Amino acid sequence: MAKVLVFIDNPGQALKKSSLELLTIARTLGEPAVAFNGELHEDVAAGLAAYGAQALYRPSATDLDDYLVGPKASYLAAAVQTAGASVVLAENSAEGKEIAARLGIKLGAGVITDVVAVDPDGTAHKSVLAGSYTTTAKATTPVAVLTVKSNSVTPEPAVTGTAPETVSVEVPETATAASARITERSEKAATGRPDLADARIVVAGGRGVDGDFGPVEDLADALGAAVGASRAATDAGWIGHDAQVGQTGKTVSPQLFISAGISGAIQQKAGMQTAKVIVAINKDAESPVFEIADFGIIGDLFKVLPQATEEIRKRRG
Ligand SMILES: Cc1cc2nc3c(=O)[nH]c(=O)nc-3n(C[C@H](O)[C@H](O)[C@H](O)COP(=O)(O)OP(=O)(O)OC[C@H]3O[C@@H](n4cnc5c(N)ncnc54)[C@H](O)[C@@H]3O)c2cc1C
Repeated sequence: MAKVLVFIDNPGQALKKSSLELLTIARTLGEPAVAFNGELHEDVAAGLAAYGAQALYRPSATDLDDYLVGPKASYLAAAVQTAGASVVLAENSAEGKEIAARLGIKLGAGVITDVVAVDPDGTAHKSVLAGSYTTTAKATTPVAVLTVKSNSVTPEPAVTGTAPETVSVEVPETATAASARITERSEKAATGRPDLADARIVVAGGRGVDGDFGPVEDLADALGAAVGASRAATDAGWIGHDAQVGQTGKTVSPQLFISAGISGAIQQKAGMQTAKVIVAINKDAESPVFEIADFGIIGDLFKVLPQATEEIRKRRG
């Protein structure tokens, strides 16, 4: 059976939904294992096992998290060889894609990014041209590296979980020798909202909010959603750049994307077009955003969003 390695960059204190999604896909392709770096808490390890991880690979050098992508790719290449893996799955984040590219070069492996579904034979379905088309591709190399968009599958636990063995992977000394090192970190203040890339619901605002993200944030909080933004809004400094969705921002695939005061430029659509349901609120009936919306509301967001928030709060008691 094919060995499938799921890369989890710094698993943190709680199980990430994206990791469970990757393990769910991995089980359809073969025998899943996890390669991680950083700390792995006991309950996170147990959760990974419940989703099918049969082995946990960790780097012999414990401080890889203090480096940028280079050493992580070297470690992952060593982990692939130790595990005898023929498929590697990673997150479709900017860092995940860069690690995948470097891994591809190191192993001579085919790399497929922006994957939205994987068939059991390894054929990947990939979103291309700003989400306008879905293509299929299959790596013909002995090792395939796939980066998978969040929310591509619903995470499902394995029928039987086994206690995974932990295997230490020797990281070559050269891996960290000439690499830039992170010397300081400052913790971002927690918003209490879900992570934008993983969120099931995203409420996003654009230039139409005119500097006031309050109604967008209120609706997001009523729905337990993440807050996103167009580049016009982030460039204006109304919200941080980490909220930007689009070609030069984050790619999201939530179950529900609510777009308010966003015109739907192609670069913006590139980041959200694969959302399952799109609701657009725009006062211009001719706005291109309505071309991709499943539901459209022609109206002023400052009237529509507060009404929606009030109604949702009322129904939720
Ligand atoms: C290389 C490149 C990369 C880019 N990458 C990105 C990217 O990653 N993400 C991104 O978003 N953009 C990106 N852009 C910019 C993109 O082309 C658009 O300029 C941008 O998305 C526009 O943002 P917007 O829709 O918020 O603003 P606008 O296009 O100005 O649209 C504002 C909309 O709000 C509506 N509106 C105004 N007031 C209200 C109201 N009170 N109620 C309801 N509706 C209202 C208007 O009718 C209008 O449709 C990129 C551009 C380039 C060239």
